[in-house]
Amino acid sequence: MTNFTDAPTTAVPDSNGKFGPYGGQFVPETLMPALAELITAYDEARRDPAFVAEFEHLLHSYVGRPSPVTHAKRLSQQLGGAQIYLKREDLNHTGAHKINNALGQALLAQRMGKQRIVAETGAGQHGVGTATACALLGLECIVYMGEVDIARQQPNVYRMKLLGAEVRSVSSGSRTLKDAINEAIRDWVTNVETTHYLLGSVLGPHPYPMMVRDFQSVIGRGARQQMLDEIGRLPNVVVACVGGGSNAMGIFHAFRDDEGVDLIGVEAGGESIASGKHAARFADLNVARIGVLHGTKSFVMQTADGQIIETHSISAGLDYPSVGPEHAWLRDQERAGYTYATDEEALAAFQMLSKTEGIIPALESAHAVADVIKRAPTMHPDQIILVNMSGRGDKDLNTVIDLLA
Ligand SMILES: *Cc1c(COP(=O)(O)O)cnc(C)c1O
Repeated sequence: MTNFTDAPTTAVPDSNGKFGPYGGQFVPETLMPALAELITAYDEARRDPAFVAEFEHLLHSYVGRPSPVTHAKRLSQQLGGAQIYLKREDLNHTGAHKINNALGQALLAQRMGKQRIVAETGAGQHGVGTATACALLGLECIVYMGEVDIARQQPNVYRMKLLGAEVRSVSSGSRTLKDAINEAIRDWVTNVETTHYLLGSVLGPHPYPMMVRDFQSVIGRGARQQMLDEIGRLPNVVVACVGGGSNAMGIFHAFRDDEGVDLIGVEAGGESIASGKHAARFADLNVARIGVLHGTKSFVMQTADGQIIETHSISAGLDYPSVGPEHAWLRDQERAGYTYATDEEALAAFQMLSKTEGIIPALESAHAVADVIKRAPTMHPDQIILVNMSGRGDKDLNTVIDLLA
C-alpha cells in the first residue's frame, strides 16, 4: 500500500456505510443530501492523484511525516519480555495524530468549495488540529466547545483563538463534548451549503468513520513499512488507545490482513470498572449496549431507558460514551481485542516511559503504554510489540502535577 486509496482486501464498510450491524447514517432528513455530497466528493478526491499528492505533500512538508519508529530499548529491558517499538505520532506538528485527519478533511472541504468549517472539541486537541489546518488553508473555522471544557482547557482555547478560530461556548446538557457535537451538527444542518463539518474521530454517520480511518491510515502504512525496512519483520502485536478510535484504526488498518499480527485496543478504565466511573465501553456490557449516538450505531454507554451515561477518564481524549463502529465490528469478528487501563495505571505508565525513554506521552497514549507494561513480560525477547504514541504529554503536565501532588 502506497497511499490511502489502496485499501486492504478485507476493507469495509459496505456501500451503506455498515460495518456488519454497526455504523450507517442515523441523521435528520435535512442532512442526507449533505452526506451524499460528501460521499461523492470524497470518492472522487481519493481517486484523484492531484488530491492525494497534495495531501501527502502537506503531511511531509507541514506535519513532518514520516514520523519515526523508535525502539524503546530501556523500557523493553526493564520489563524483561518483548521488544517494544513506538510509532511516534507525538512528533507531528501540533503534537498528535489528529492533524492527519484535520488536514485531509480541510483539503476536501476546499475542493468542495466550502470555505467555512465547523468542528467540535472536548479537551481541545481536535479543535487545535482543525484550527491549524484552517489557518494553513485560509478557511473560516468555528469550534463548538462545552462551557465546562472551556473552563478546564484554557490553554487550548487560547491556542485556537491565536490560530484564528472562533470558539463557541455550549451551555446545554452536561456542557461537555457530546453537547458540543450536537451544536456542531445543528450548525451544519443550518449552513450546509457553505459549511463542512470536520469530525475528529472514526465516529458519526457514513462516510465519516471510513474517511477519518483512511486519512489516519498513513500511520499504519508508514509503521508497517518501517518495521519491514528497519527491523526486517512485522510486529507480533500492535497496541493503541481507543477514545473514538481514530489513532487505533489509523495504525490497525494496514495490518488487518496480516493474520500473525494481533491488534489490541485499550480503553479508559477510569477509577475502575466497578465504580462506573470509566469510558470502557467494551469492558462494561452492563451499561454499554448497542445504540445510536451522533449518527452512528455502535456500543453506547447508556441507562436502561437509553439516557447517555457520563463517562470518566483522566485523559479527556478517551472520555466519550461511544466508540467507532468499525471497532465494534473488529471486536465481533475477533480481529481485534479490547482491554482497558485505569487512570492509575496510565499515570504510572506516563512516568515510566518518561524516565526510561525520555518521551513524555499524552495521557491517552499512556493507556496504551500501560497495557504494554502488563503484556511485554508475558512475551519472549524475540517478539515485538508496536505501540502507537498518539500524542505528546505537554498538554497534560498540569493534570499530572496536580494528581501527583
Ligand atoms: C484525541 C486523542 C486520542 C483519542 O482519539 P482517538 O480518535 O481514539 O484516536 C488519543 N490520543 C491523543 C493524543 C489524542 O489527542
